[in-house]
Amino acid sequence: MSADTLTLALSKGRIFDETLPLLRAAGIEVLEDPETSRKLILPTNRPDVRVVLVRATDVPTYVEYGGADLGVCGKDTLIEHQAVAGGPGHVGLYQPLDLGIARCRMSVAVRADFDYASAVRQGARLRVATKYVAVARDFFAGKGVHVDLIKLYGSMELAPLTGLADAIVDLVSTGNTLKANQLVEVERIMDISARLVVRPVALKLKRVRIQPILDAFAQAVGTRAQP
Ligand code: AMP
Repeated sequence: MSADTLTLALSKGRIFDETLPLLRAAGIEVLEDPETSRKLILPTNRPDVRVVLVRATDVPTYVEYGGADLGVCGKDTLIEHQAVAGGPGHVGLYQPLDLGIARCRMSVAVRADFDYASAVRQGARLRVATKYVAVARDFFAGKGVHVDLIKLYGSMELAPLTGLADAIVDLVSTGNTLKANQLVEVERIMDISARLVVRPVALKLKRVRIQPILDAFAQAVGTRAQP
């Protein structure tokens, strides 16, 4: 990657859409629409800035290992990434800003006819299906609830309906998906929003390019970037 180019990793959908106004505030316009273009590298009005489209769960990996200088990803993705990627060669990520976008919550949900409170009270061993194994493990350990965790990669709502699990840990926004599948939210684990992440070495080597973007993002979201 050229030292003159800044690469920003984004995922398609809500993160991309909600990051666009922040980029605009920094004077950066993305020149192609990811919904109609098949390109994975999108040019911007700034010849020295480009956007790469990656899966949401890959954003921290791209930024940490130098495929991108900075990126935007959900707190959920970051926590799971950090739980898995703590080994040798782990350089970490600088997280200067909570962007306050793509807001939702991470919650525990069960079938409407499952008595979660009694199961927990009686010390039952719960089967919990989730994409967020690290968060779920910590949460239930903190409550002293014994769980068998089942890792899934999508459609978690299906797990309690098919008997695969008693409960799920998933993101909830409006609650409509849970409702449509006769599931109810029984615990709220944490609030989630998207964060800006920066590769520490990029911040050092490309500070003159990155700092104005951090400042513009911070101003746009009404906060200050951490030094
Ligand atoms: P909702 O029906 O609005 O509660 O949305 C729930 C569905 O959207 C679930 O499948 C979630 O995994 C997904 N979801 C909700 N909010 C987000 C978010 N901020 N980022 C990624 N997925 C989300």
